[in-house]
Amino acid sequence: MTISTILNKANKLHNLTKEEIYYLLCDSYDDNILFKEADRIRNFYLGNKVHLRGLIEFSNYCKNNCLYCGIRRSNKLISRYRIQPDMLISIAKNAAHVGYKTLVLQSGEDSFYSVEKLQYIIHELKKLNLAITLSIGEKSFEEYQAYKEAGADRYLLRIETTNKNLYHRLDPQMSWDNRKQCLINLQKLGYELGSGFMVGLPRQSLESIADDILFLKELNVDMAGIGPFIPHPQTPLKNVKNNPFRLSLKVIAILRLLLPDINIPATTAMEALHPKGRILALQCGANVIMPNVTNLEFCKSYQLYPGKPLPFDSLEIQYNKISKMLTTLGRTIATDFGFHQKF
Ligand code: SF4
Repeated sequence: MTISTILNKANKLHNLTKEEIYYLLCDSYDDNILFKEADRIRNFYLGNKVHLRGLIEFSNYCKNNCLYCGIRRSNKLISRYRIQPDMLISIAKNAAHVGYKTLVLQSGEDSFYSVEKLQYIIHELKKLNLAITLSIGEKSFEEYQAYKEAGADRYLLRIETTNKNLYHRLDPQMSWDNRKQCLINLQKLGYELGSGFMVGLPRQSLESIADDILFLKELNVDMAGIGPFIPHPQTPLKNVKNNPFRLSLKVIAILRLLLPDINIPATTAMEALHPKGRILALQCGANVIMPNVTNLEFCKSYQLYPGKPLPFDSLEIQYNKISKMLTTLGRTIATDFGFHQKF
């Protein structure tokens, strides 16, 4: 097995075995070759456009207690907030005015936002000619259906890991099987489906990451989000020593080889680990950025992981800075909704 035979196969079939993926995840070759190939495939299928998804973190209350998460229920050190529906709509209007075509509404699993409240918000946001992505956790089939009927277009729900033992250790009281069922339900309902997993979790092997990659391939996701694990000081995993930055870049690149036309974000977590994290991810296969458009006063308290880059600039300045940064990479902001174009 060599890097060139694996890349040739990936180029022809967009499929690899677990052993081949494992080889790519290891350090036995020059990973710049992998990154260059992923960048070439991204350019071939998707061109130089980068989709911006404005992220609104509207509640940091969560009923769950995931060991790695800064807004877990047991963290009593953060101040909790909920953005009221009308304020959320006003944030969305500002973002739409600046040029955003998609907004991502993200929160912990917070039952304060009833189905009726969320339907109202989605209805109002659709009037702004926006694509709406929800990232609000595990819900019943009927709730997902109600949001879809209200106009939601996409849903993000990361599987986090396909290793069930690891999942149940890190996400106590949650069920991996239920999470998978949620993903299947979302697909049945016609959402564009985003999923993903964490990289660098304690006791997560490379074999397990290879399984995670194959899981997303098999699920045929429309979007894959990779979250490098960054230990949060107010969680039980605070003492874990790890920097999965390079490994996360490899995962992004491998996903691009296997799912050449999907949307892959360069996540802000990558920027928390490396000052050029987002740029490097964009050069390893990513084609989406999710700038935070939440008011600073709230977004400071939405710390899933430490070191999160905060939006100190106004929305206009932030948008213009991203546009300039993309120009230096030979890329531009896409002006369409950025739905998954299947080839
Ligand atoms: S990872 Fe998600 S579900 Fe788990 S505690 Fe954090 S916000 Fe809640």
